[in-house]
Amino acid sequence: MTQRLVLHGIGVAAGTASGPAAVVAPAVGVDESEPACTDVEADGQRVREVLADVAASLRERAGHANSETSKAVLEATAALATDRGLVKGVDKELKKGSGVTRAIHDAVETYAAKLRKVGGYMAERVTDLYDIRDRATARLRGVAEPGIPDLPEPAVIVAHDLAPAETATLDPAMVRGIVTEAGGATSHTAILAAQLGIPAAVQVKGVTEALAGAARVEIAIDGGVGEVIVAPSATDVAELTERSRRRAVALAGSSGEGATRDGHRVKLLANIGTTDDAAAAAAQDLEGSGLFRTEFLFLERESAPSVEEQTDTYTAVLRSFGTRRVVVRTLDAGADKPLSFADLGPEENPALGRRGLRLSQAREELLDAQLAALAAAGAAVPDAELWVMAPMVSTVEETTWFAAKARAHGLPKVGIMVETPAAAIRAKQLLSLVDFASIGTNDLSQYTMAADRMQGELAHLLTPWQPAVLSMIRATCQGGAATGKPVGVCGEAGGDPLMALVLVGLGVTSLSMAPGKVSAVRAALRLHDLDTCRQMANYAVDAPTAADARAAVLNIADPVLRDLL
Ligand code: PEP
Ligand code: MG
Repeated sequence: MTQRLVLHGIGVAAGTASGPAAVVAPAVGVDESEPACTDVEADGQRVREVLADVAASLRERAGHANSETSKAVLEATAALATDRGLVKGVDKELKKGSGVTRAIHDAVETYAAKLRKVGGYMAERVTDLYDIRDRATARLRGVAEPGIPDLPEPAVIVAHDLAPAETATLDPAMVRGIVTEAGGATSHTAILAAQLGIPAAVQVKGVTEALAGAARVEIAIDGGVGEVIVAPSATDVAELTERSRRRAVALAGSSGEGATRDGHRVKLLANIGTTDDAAAAAAQDLEGSGLFRTEFLFLERESAPSVEEQTDTYTAVLRSFGTRRVVVRTLDAGADKPLSFADLGPEENPALGRRGLRLSQAREELLDAQLAALAAAGAAVPDAELWVMAPMVSTVEETTWFAAKARAHGLPKVGIMVETPAAAIRAKQLLSLVDFASIGTNDLSQYTMAADRMQGELAHLLTPWQPAVLSMIRATCQGGAATGKPVGVCGEAGGDPLMALVLVGLGVTSLSMAPGKVSAVRAALRLHDLDTCRQMANYAVDAPTAADARAAVLNIADPVLRDLL
């Protein structure tokens, strides 16, 4: 029997859940004790059959993928599994006398080297190739395929880490919760989990070890506070249910426009990445979209989308929201969001390289096409409130360049994201050139603290509660106040009900977040007046550490707020 064990990580999507743990198996690698090949014909046949089974199971998963993007990824990987070049490569290795798993590994390595040489889209297929290798190896060794298992009943997914593509294929009806051992709170995997509205916790150290070897273990999660209980007792489950009940009470009546208790308005908006997201978010009680991550539309594309195709997509998104605001971010390609058609070649430090607006400057035609499509979509939906902003801006020159281009296309509201310390401390100068700013706290934390947002081990540095990050946000808001321009937040920080109070106290005028987080943030704002938010902001910025900042704010928050976390 598995022992009851309470573990703590970082909560990234609120809500409680319990159910059987579905462990995502790790890749097993070459079987070092396998016999050498003595019958090339028979071993070759065995590998071919296994590769065909891998392709068939990927195709089946493509059949119930929950988005067109995931479907396309899975189908492309399935096709690669039965690629003739790969199969021939395996035969060649078998002829050298390698055992079956060794032959697959070496053949894949040779093929991967060729793809890397071709570069661009082909080089990116190397990840798919390794996925096929790991699945085929597991089958040959008679162990569970790595990756998310088929779920016969609703379960809590437990993994060392999940790739964004894996998270995107999860079916919210079958997945009660997500628990990962690694992963960062602002990684795109965490963002996608929140987007799907599934309770999730990352950085839960020891969870995979606690489940190792066990057959069917229950697991409970509180995705708000990041608590995970392996083999929970009946009392644990009852307590979690009670927390859910209290949360429901605290959320009751959370509807309508966002405002503090004394009526200070704060627009509450949704982060979206696809037209499906837009339709789902627009059906909810929120005031528009404060971040449309347009690069999410094109993650798997080989060639740049045409102006017509983009126009159709943007028009659909604007139509979904009617007269509500939609803030579209122009392509933020590069670093953690590589787009093969916008690839400028390998870089030593991609997060510090030609990404975001810098990439748009190098590939001006991509930005021009996008702005033309946005202008056409705006014309097709004249009642829409279309705002457009650029990612990764640091200087006056970049701001001027982008604003001139966007305005030349006739776009009415032009802004910038504040994601670098350079933009934050020069916000007044930059904001004097545009209509608004939106703070990307995920990248602003990464660049202020010099800590890779993909690196879960650095979560303590990446939290927006770091007083240095809060100082950057304050500087940005001061720039907004000096120029009379609105400053929103669209990073994950905006969806934390406690942090939202601090942001409003610092002067932020709108908050954009995963749609499932809006009602808790709205309820938190309703519990506090603007003066309290300002006092919270002062306490947080003046605190010596991130932990002190959060504790000081929680200390003066309404007690009901704890039920919202
Ligand atoms: C951010 O950096 O906070 C942001 C909203 O952009 P992204 O997470 O897409 O980089
Ligand atoms: Mg960013």
